[in-house]
Formats: sequence, structure tokens, C-alpha cells
Amino acid sequence: MIESGGVWTLSEVRGGLVHQVSYELLAWGRDLADVLGTPLSAVLMGHGVAGQAEGLVAHGADQVYVVDSPELADFLPDSFARVLGDLVSRHRPEILIASATSTGRALMPLLFVDADTGLTADCTELSIETDERLLLQTRPAIGGNVMADIRTPLGRPQMCTVRPRSRRPLPEDRSRTGRIVEETPDVSSVMRLLEFLPEKKVGAPLQDAEVIVSGGRGMKGARNFAMLEELAALLGGSVGASRAAVDMNWAPYSSQVGLSGKSVTPKVYIACGISGAVQHLAGMSASDTVIAINTDPEAAIFRVADLGIVGDALEVVPALIGRLRS
Ligand SMILES: Cc1cc2nc3c(=O)[nH]c(=O)nc-3n(C[C@H](O)[C@H](O)[C@H](O)COP(=O)(O)OP(=O)(O)OC[C@H]3O[C@@H](n4cnc5c(N)ncnc54)[C@H](O)[C@@H]3O)c2cc1C
Repeated sequence: MIESGGVWTLSEVRGGLVHQVSYELLAWGRDLADVLGTPLSAVLMGHGVAGQAEGLVAHGADQVYVVDSPELADFLPDSFARVLGDLVSRHRPEILIASATSTGRALMPLLFVDADTGLTADCTELSIETDERLLLQTRPAIGGNVMADIRTPLGRPQMCTVRPRSRRPLPEDRSRTGRIVEETPDVSSVMRLLEFLPEKKVGAPLQDAEVIVSGGRGMKGARNFAMLEELAALLGGSVGASRAAVDMNWAPYSSQVGLSGKSVTPKVYIACGISGAVQHLAGMSASDTVIAINTDPEAAIFRVADLGIVGDALEVVPALIGRLRS
């Protein structure tokens, strides 16, 4: 029997495969559903994706609503929003969470207008206010100086997007069992995908990189980012930047790490000439190992660093490159 209501997560498909953010959302959703004592459902829309529904169960879902159709091969916001809206109006989840990716940010606003409820963007923390069973949607506000708890007491579902990488997926457990519900709503679209132009970039996308070499104002100029690229290439990583470096056009916005940039959780984050402002730390402090290179022994970045090198990055980075090459 299909269990209506409960907590829902929106799965994302890229290149025909369920994307990592879908599993991160299930980790959030599992906690919320357990506190509420309700089922956790994942919504999976795409083409040729039905076979991947079990993977969502293995990562925490109790049920998966699958809409699998050739019409859903490309992400077209109008049809995806209509399909999701149809499922929501029939099965009435208490809570619906999506990732704050371009997909989630495009889809959720379309849905919340139709559903006449609230939507909180870019949450970094989710919890349940148990007295009233309300979702507490926590996100940085006022330039990251305060954390705001937002509630949706009246509208349903309670909807929010969550920053990618704000949570690790639960370990895969193939012994978990769940219900797969195949749905066949109207999937037609008035839109058509003409072309997909991927961003030209060296290394893995920042949010997928296992090693990130990041530069700040202490790198002194755009030309010195070449040494960060060289170090990143030797370590199989990607290059990140502070907002100060991006503002000075030393690096593209797509490499900005922090509150108004990307949240990253690499295995190793090397911060070169970055002071460690709270807005920067908001995007990288969940990295497994942080290595900081800074001339100022009092720099805030050293408080989150596992390894600190007090020194001139313009000397330390070339020395590291030399050692790695030899
Ligand atoms: C609403 C809002 C959102 C923001 N969002 C972001 C964000 O997403 N990401 C972000 O990064 N910032 C963000 N900021 C800006 C943030 O507050 C800082 O201004 C910024 O992070 C500083 O960048 P930085 O560390 O490169 O520069 P600085 O703070 O100027 O630090 C430079 C550091 O380099 C060191 N240094 C100097 N020379 C050398 C050298 N030769 N070798 C080694 N070290 C050296 C200095 O000691 C210093 O610690 C935001 C601010 C606001 C108000």
C-alpha cells in the first residue's frame, strides 16, 4: 500500500544517473522522517531511471515515486514542475526538500507558487520542532552573521532547498527494502532543449573535487593562480578561490568558495593566502583536512586548519610543486 504524506526528497538525474545530491537529501530526510515517525519518500523523474530507484532505498528512502518517460530525458522546468505538482497534490507530503542546485532552484519556486505555501532557499541545517511538528529551516542571513530559523506553520508542504554538500549521504545498505511506486502523470512540455553548453573548466567541478587548492588575496595577482592550477593538477584536484580573489577577477565566480559561492567537502582543502573570514569558512570548514598557508600566524584560517604553514604562499606553493615533481 502506498503511504501518503511524510517527508519527500527530490532526486536529481544527470547524464542518466542519479546524482550524489539525491543521496545527501535522503540523509537529511531520514533524520526528519524518523523524528516525525513518518515514511521517507524520494521522487525520481527522468528517462531510463527506474532501475536506479533501489539505490535510493539503499540510501534511506522507504518509498520511491518513479516517473520514467522519454519526455523527461532532458530537464525542462515546466514539465518537471507539473509532474512534481501532480504527485504533491495527490499524495500530500508534509515536507518536501530539494537541493539548492540549478535544478532545485528552478523547480521549487514554480511548485511553491502553485501549492500556495512557503519556500526557504539555501538551508544549511534542517531539524524538527517537535511540539508542533514543524520543519525548522536554518540558513545564514544578514551576510552570514546570524543563522535564521524559518518555519512554515500554515502552508503545506513545508518546502526548502538545501545547500549541496551540507551533509554526507548515509552509507549504502542494499539489504534495506522499500516500495517502488510507478506513476504516469502528464509529462508533456511546451519547452524543448536546443543545446547543452558545458562550462569550460580544468579539473573536476569544485563540488566533486577530492582536492581543492584555493587562493585568496594573499596570492597577489591573477598570474599567480597559474601556480595553484599547477599544484592542483599534480594533486588531481581543482582550483578554488575566495571572494576577494574573484572580485579582483583573478578567478571566475564558478570557483568561489563560501557563503555566496559554493560549499565544498573535499578530502583536502589547501587555502593559500586566505584569511579565513566566516563567509569563506561557511563553504569549506566541512573539508576532511584543511591545510593553510598564510604569512600571518594569527589568521583565522589557522583555527580550522589541520596543518598550518606560516609563510609566503608565493614561495611555499612553488616549493611544494618542486617536491611533488621530484
Ligand atoms: C554577504 C557576504 C558574502 C560573502 N561571501 C563570501 C564567499 O562566498 N566567499 C568568500 O571567500 N568570502 C565571502 N565574503 C567576503 C569575506 O568576508 C572576506 O572579505 C573574504 O573571504 C576575504 O578574502 P581573502 O581571505 O582572500 O582576503 P583577505 O581577508 O584580505 O586575506 C588575505 C590573507 O592573505 C594573507 N597573505 C597576504 N600575503 C600573503 C602571502 N604572500 N602568502 C600567504 N598569505 C598571505 C594575509 O595574511 C591574509 O590573511 C562575503 C562577504 C559578505 C559580506
